[in-house]
Amino acid sequence: MTHPPRSVRLTPKGIKPVRNGHPWVFRNALAGTPASGGVRQPSVDHALVWKHTEPVCVSDPGGVPLGWGIWNAASRLAVRMISHDPGQSISGELIEDRVARAVARRDAMIDNTRHSAYRVVFGEADGLPGVVVDRFGAYRVLQISSAFAWDNRDRIAGWVAAASGCDRALVKMVPDMAMLAREGIAERVVHAELEDAGGAEQTSVRLPDDTSTDASNTEQCEVIENGLRWRVYPAAGQKTGFYCDQRENRQRVASCARGRRVLDVFSYHGGFGLTAFAHGAQAVCFIDSSDDALALVAENAELQGAPHDALTTIQGDAFTILRDNAVPDGIAAWDLVILDPPKLAPARKDVDRAMRAYKDLNLAVMRNAASGTLLATFSCSGVIDWVSLRRVLGWAAHDAGRTVRVIAVLPQGTDHPVPLSFPEAEYLTGFLLEIE
Ligand code: SAH
Repeated sequence: MTHPPRSVRLTPKGIKPVRNGHPWVFRNALAGTPASGGVRQPSVDHALVWKHTEPVCVSDPGGVPLGWGIWNAASRLAVRMISHDPGQSISGELIEDRVARAVARRDAMIDNTRHSAYRVVFGEADGLPGVVVDRFGAYRVLQISSAFAWDNRDRIAGWVAAASGCDRALVKMVPDMAMLAREGIAERVVHAELEDAGGAEQTSVRLPDDTSTDASNTEQCEVIENGLRWRVYPAAGQKTGFYCDQRENRQRVASCARGRRVLDVFSYHGGFGLTAFAHGAQAVCFIDSSDDALALVAENAELQGAPHDALTTIQGDAFTILRDNAVPDGIAAWDLVILDPPKLAPARKDVDRAMRAYKDLNLAVMRNAASGTLLATFSCSGVIDWVSLRRVLGWAAHDAGRTVRVIAVLPQGTDHPVPLSFPEAEYLTGFLLEIE
């Protein structure tokens, strides 16, 4: 940040999103006027001359500054906007302030007597591109998915610790390798990690392909969510270790669970099923393809004092199990079903295939369910919006020949806010349905 500021110019078409506060500038939105500092793809010179990432001033086609962002020579996402105010350039103080504000907003929003696991920083939605921070009790897990965040990881970790009043050693880092590959820095990250692993005292960074939850050096903690106790392995397991985005939905679904038999499909650590059990469900069956996930279900059941005889786990492919109606006593024996699959459409090109997969899953349940069954069904694919998910559910209901009603909409948690200027932050959609 000691270089003189470079600048890029937008094409006339590229101005509007930036004016509206959108944080992404794609390469094809940049005008090619190299003499005045603009860049056009392919622009090998600039890619070589410019450092991999650095602050740039983003201007309209006439050169009038609109704001500041981080240039990335390697990504199709050429600039990640940090400031839409030309007078507010990028500085450590600005980022530090954003972190502090994000933490303060969660403190004001979350009832911390009932919850100690929630998202404190949600990337662009908090003005911090590629920076996600989850709180798990005393720990903070920093998930890094932009070159900007990677380059500044140690400072950001320090600011997270300071804003949260937690020990710096309790801030764990997880690089999101798929995203960092798109940012063009995956190799750099792996290299740095290998050095760290062999070298000096450093922030602990999980190695990219280590998804085990039982490594001997794995730290663990206990958190509270919806008033229940849960074991979390910060930065181990899936993503940051625990999905905070379903907190309110787990409570909402559990409020319908009294006396019901619950099928928690794609259960991971059993968030839906165990919350339902605590609210009076008669029995719960958990289905997941991951043994580690089902081990977490058992661990959490024990922690919560749930009796073993009311709980069953099935390890396997949920698509096949549902299609073959291969759950104990058949799907008709379960009158509250949760379908929370992993992201089936990571990108736009996957939408058609994913729509068919969502349809197949829901169809299998609707076809076999007893009348009066409740179905909580989700998509965490950002490219599938509310209308698309409803459409898919409509196809499934039609093919199953059932009347299906929407009882409630189930969005991502309040700690995952969606800026009006950045609709891409909305990725979790779900409906609570009643099958007649
Ligand atoms: N419902 C969970 C989150 C689910 S994440 C919660 O409340 O936190 C998706 C889960 O689906 C993961 O645990 C993953 O192991 C599992 N999974 C992925 N593919 C699967 C498949 N084909 N069959 C069954 N489970 C699968």
